[in-house]
Amino acid sequence: MESKKTVSFSRNAGNIFFHILTRCNLRCRHCYINPGQHGENTLPIGTIETWLAAFAGKSRVANVIFLGGEPTLHPELSHAIKAARRLGYESVTVDTNGYLFHDILSKVSPDEVDYFSFSLDGATRDINDSLRGEGCYDRCIAGIRKAADRGFGTSLIYTVSRANIHELEFMPSLLKELGIHRFFIQIIGIRGNSAAHAENLQVSREEWLCTIPRVAENAAALGITATYPKVFLNPDEAFECAGLAADNYFIFPNGRVYRCPLCEDFPLHSLRFEGNNLVQTEKINENDLFALSIPEGCVMNKLIQPGNLKPEMTYKIACCMLKEEISFRLPDTVASAIVLTGFI
Ligand code: SF4
Ligand code: SF4
Repeated sequence: MESKKTVSFSRNAGNIFFHILTRCNLRCRHCYINPGQHGENTLPIGTIETWLAAFAGKSRVANVIFLGGEPTLHPELSHAIKAARRLGYESVTVDTNGYLFHDILSKVSPDEVDYFSFSLDGATRDINDSLRGEGCYDRCIAGIRKAADRGFGTSLIYTVSRANIHELEFMPSLLKELGIHRFFIQIIGIRGNSAAHAENLQVSREEWLCTIPRVAENAAALGITATYPKVFLNPDEAFECAGLAADNYFIFPNGRVYRCPLCEDFPLHSLRFEGNNLVQTEKINENDLFALSIPEGCVMNKLIQPGNLKPEMTYKIACCMLKEEISFRLPDTVASAIVLTGFI
């Protein structure tokens, strides 16, 4: 699995987060999908191919992540995956809740999909299902096993909140047992459903720093590459906005294309598809705000999510796409941790 790729950290790589529909079989408590802002349509395969082509050449290296809603509900997801390969995308990832509709594992091969990335938000059935719905834990675990049995690369996304941070430390051993290759820890975004109960769900800086780097190291020690957002910057650490320094695009089925995920609940997208043409959105949009320099760090966190992460004199809020990645290598007999910092 060493040659497999997924969302890249390099500034020279573009990442296309392509929501091909917003429909989902689940109703997770913290779902960020907002059909009023993102559309309720399912994109026809011809449109998916045209929109993929529009982004294929934008960066020297382009990665695509298919999302929804639940992307496997799209009956032509396999055609979208094959189209991405034909267009030269460096890697193809499918984010899924694990239900794997339309027998997707039989329609694509491990050469075509680098990773199926499963979402689980608890190490136990009780916690996961309290957040994602009854029966989800078992279905997700079964989906992971099935994908692994068929030789697919598998990764897992765990969205940390007050409701499940206490179970994070049990994840590395579960991941190892399931044969997961990569572990993505996310901080809950106060968007979509979460915006209604932000105060209850967001973790503090102390909780984050006490738990997340330690668990990521534990996963890495088991041979699983672990990635988590930096979230908080010390005063001596440089702040950068991925909207200016990286090439990430978040595409929704109503044609909106964002550069910053924090903007997704608002009509602040910098690009949009009009039919098959990608056009710039009129001012004022997210692009006009990225360059605003404020001492608190991320401008959108302050402007449009003031109740979310609170900056203080002693730290700034990092770009939500600034990640740390930890993996272990065994050069001789001594294991050494390799820590990378970069944008996705
Ligand atoms: S978080 Fe994902 S799986 Fe859950 S309801 Fe939203 S789109 Fe569906
Ligand atoms: S999260 Fe903040 S820093 Fe990152 S792209 Fe958006 S505005 Fe820029």
